[in-house]
Amino acid sequence: MTSLDDLPIRDDLRGKSPYGAPQKHVPVALNVNENTHPIPEDVAHDIVARVAAAIIGLNRYPDREFTELRTALARYLGHDLVPEQLWAANGSNEVLQHVLQAFGGPGRTALGFGPTYSMYGLLSSGTGTGWIAADRDGDFELSPETAVAAIERHDPDVVLLCSPNNPTGTPLSLETIAAVADAARGVVVVDEAYHEFADPGTPSALTLLEGRPRLLVSRTMSKAFAFAGARVGYLAAAPAVIDALRLVRLPYHLSALTQAAALGALAHADEMLAMVDEIRAQRERITRELRGLGFHPYRSGANFVLFGGVADPHAVFEALLDRGILIREIGLPGCLRVTAGTEAETTAFLEAMASFAPSTAANA
Ligand SMILES: *Cc1c(COP(=O)(O)O)cnc(C)c1O
Repeated sequence: MTSLDDLPIRDDLRGKSPYGAPQKHVPVALNVNENTHPIPEDVAHDIVARVAAAIIGLNRYPDREFTELRTALARYLGHDLVPEQLWAANGSNEVLQHVLQAFGGPGRTALGFGPTYSMYGLLSSGTGTGWIAADRDGDFELSPETAVAAIERHDPDVVLLCSPNNPTGTPLSLETIAAVADAARGVVVVDEAYHEFADPGTPSALTLLEGRPRLLVSRTMSKAFAFAGARVGYLAAAPAVIDALRLVRLPYHLSALTQAAALGALAHADEMLAMVDEIRAQRERITRELRGLGFHPYRSGANFVLFGGVADPHAVFEALLDRGILIREIGLPGCLRVTAGTEAETTAFLEAMASFAPSTAANA
């Protein structure tokens, strides 16, 4: 049988592994940071009506410029943004791919601060962009000095700042973002996939866009918005940046069904985001209770918690799975990551973790 190695595949893709977070049907799935609360029923009905209306017109290509959606996204983000500053695609992963296609590519580099979102390296590899994972400070923090030193040393074409950072949860200060934006020669993307979960009052990097034409801020409807299955991500930047992304996108990349569904969800933004406070409360509860059990949870501004102090992460991962609870092994020694779900899901996770508590391990 022909294997991958037998194919005339690009040399730079040989030996690579695809993105592969396990997709298992378990009662408690807390491994990919989805919003585990279902979409409210009245919102679902409105979205269905909008999608149904769009189906009649599927003989035609959709609005290539998704003008109505960009207008709705600008309104949702606020900060005096206009539709000409907005871009969207099938998930923010595709938005980031567009950025790398336009500003990265062969002979160019993208830099992030590891451990960070695994897709940055994969999207770099897919677009032929060299990927550089620079170091963070202790406890996965990132000071302006550390960040700027890496920029000066590597002079990347694209910088990917994950704020707050996945998989560590670490919030990123506006001081660090501004320092990187001012030091970098290339474009700087701030990936705010989890911004809605930040503590109330936390400023967005959107506040830094004015006067910084190479700063890009990406968001997604996959997390706080409870819309992961619809695949909608978006970005705000200077209109010239949007012109650059237009050069690399496929024509009509956002289907009429996606546009209709996204507009429906945005029309009910308050309801779609209603569970965010509750999820944040569960995140704080996970942090508090894991600490009480003797684990080492890291500071999180997202809907998940990374925690250390796990003697055998793989064994704990498997033992939880046996109980129908799926969390995430991310390859950091002694660490696991868990998504903050509903109160009941969080309870199931915390009760299971009690049997692996370092503080009781000695008695076991
Ligand atoms: C989940 C996540 C995304 C979202 O990806 P989509 O393609 O929009 O679903 C983007 N960035 C980070 C850091 C994430 O964790």
